Amino acid sequence: ADEGPSNFIRERIQQDVAQGRRDGRVFTRFPPEPNGYLHIGHAKSICLNFGMAAEFGGRCHLRFDDTNPVTEDVEFVEAIQEDIRWLGFDWGDHKYFASDYFQQLYDYAEALIRAGKAFVDSLTPEEIKAYRGNFYKKGTASPYRERSVEENLDLFRRMRAGEFEEGEHVLRAKIDVEHGNINMRDPPIYRIKKAHHHRTGDAWCVYPMYDYAHCISDALERITHSLCTLEFEDHRPLYDWILAQLDVPGDPEQIEFAKLNLSFTVIGKRKLKQLVELGLVSGWDDPRMPTLAGMRRRGYTPESIRALCERVGVSKRNGMVDVSLLEHAVREHLNATSPRVMGVLQPLKLTLTNWPAGQVEWLDAPYFADDPARGTRPVPLGRELLIEREDFKEQAVKGWFRLSPGAEVRLRHVGIVRCDEVVKDEAGEVIELRCSLDMASRPGQPGAARKVKGTIHWVSAAHALPVEARLYDRLFNVEEPNEAPEGKTFLDNLNPNSLTVVADARVEPSLAGAPTGTRVQFERLAYFCVDRDSTEDRLVVNRTIGMRDSWAK
Ligand code: ATP
Ligand code: MG
Ligand code: MG
Repeated sequence: ADEGPSNFIRERIQQDVAQGRRDGRVFTRFPPEPNGYLHIGHAKSICLNFGMAAEFGGRCHLRFDDTNPVTEDVEFVEAIQEDIRWLGFDWGDHKYFASDYFQQLYDYAEALIRAGKAFVDSLTPEEIKAYRGNFYKKGTASPYRERSVEENLDLFRRMRAGEFEEGEHVLRAKIDVEHGNINMRDPPIYRIKKAHHHRTGDAWCVYPMYDYAHCISDALERITHSLCTLEFEDHRPLYDWILAQLDVPGDPEQIEFAKLNLSFTVIGKRKLKQLVELGLVSGWDDPRMPTLAGMRRRGYTPESIRALCERVGVSKRNGMVDVSLLEHAVREHLNATSPRVMGVLQPLKLTLTNWPAGQVEWLDAPYFADDPARGTRPVPLGRELLIEREDFKEQAVKGWFRLSPGAEVRLRHVGIVRCDEVVKDEAGEVIELRCSLDMASRPGQPGAARKVKGTIHWVSAAHALPVEARLYDRLFNVEEPNEAPEGKTFLDNLNPNSLTVVADARVEPSLAGAPTGTRVQFERLAYFCVDRDSTEDRLVVNRTIGMRDSWAK
């Protein structure tokens, strides 16, 4: 298999396998919390976890980390699975929910209490925070820290039975209130939440904290390498401490790597949620969102997202990846895979004056000019055509090889036309070009090889389909949208021109009935993807990306 560039996690796993640790087993997991949609940052974690498992002949579990009933929902559980599959990964029979372990997690908590390693604290949340101290100030012990095992067990069971209100008590690990690492200062491991859980309903009113649930879930699933992002580095001692106290089956090890950050992009779920809730985008799958659902709708391919993740690799240091790397990967893949069709964004009428009215010829036009074997489609040619308004200039300037009065240009797949006459309306606006087609320059004719410098695209006015083209650009117009000056937020960095709607574009009829998600190149313009808002009467297409980088610095 192609191993790709080396990274420190691969090296760690290689070492473990070579030394026969855990019988050479490599089990990883991808553990999303079902409280939002997956984004490009998650893609990095998915590629890494599933990728390492595949590379070492192990397996990768999909585990929903659903320990916080307040923010989680089945809608997200479904969407997450769809997005992982779309990205190209498969968890097989290994789908798990942390909530499946609620009973076991509870039993382990009682075991901790019995071992004198956990106690029920009755301080208020504010008091707990104050007692814990901070980086500069040592913590102080809670007055409830020395409760007896019996009293702790009794209180914990009554917490579980629903006898107390939220915040009245918490269960805390009993570690070291003076520990240099604040995460080790008797961290809370269970809290009361009287909330309905999307899977366990009202069966529970105590819920485990992330740090407590995650390591035990890893152990129960016999995960070997628990890959997570850098902000959990300081939590690793707690991860190890909890597992060391308990008689759990597995022997997992936490390894941290840097989050993916992209320039011109905000990635965190919290901020993405804000954009959705404030109506600044149309939803989680707005094509400008860095969510997998948004990128899919925009026309990005899973291959290009995987290619980006592969290219940025895995590191121990947080950094910023240039978004043009992603755009480049998309453009490269679309260039290789997208059929070429002709569409016109700003139509201008062009009449072929020497073409009989009512005569229609269907051209057999290749989808890929350099490889006709990849297929062709019928393109109608009639007397009245539409060309791109931008391809005509009344006053030709130096280097202008497109249309202007008296000038010649090649119409793609047709032949050479000369602009004989320019028709204007009363306001002086150009409304029609009257052109003659050099019949001898048509494909297969003796003059077909005659050269002119410009080639332009067109559609048949009578056959073209109406299209709404949504032209997307970057959602933010600064490199680091999270950095905002005093009194401003990332929302002030939004690009006001991230969406331009062209309501009356036209495309050749071969696109009729194209299913949602169809990707094509509108020749000379950009890559587009058919949107689900399309109707019988009107296609809606999203501009995935332009033909070249227009954001050159
Ligand atoms: P967010 O900050 O967007 O809410 P999260 O880490 O809270 O992300 P989870 O659903 O808990 O979201 O994440 C599932 C997995 O994805 C975790 O292992 C997490 O480390 C990883 N992950 C999240 N964001 C990124 C990122 N930007 N780069 C790499 N991995 C990420
Ligand atoms: Mg999380
Ligand atoms: Mg989060």
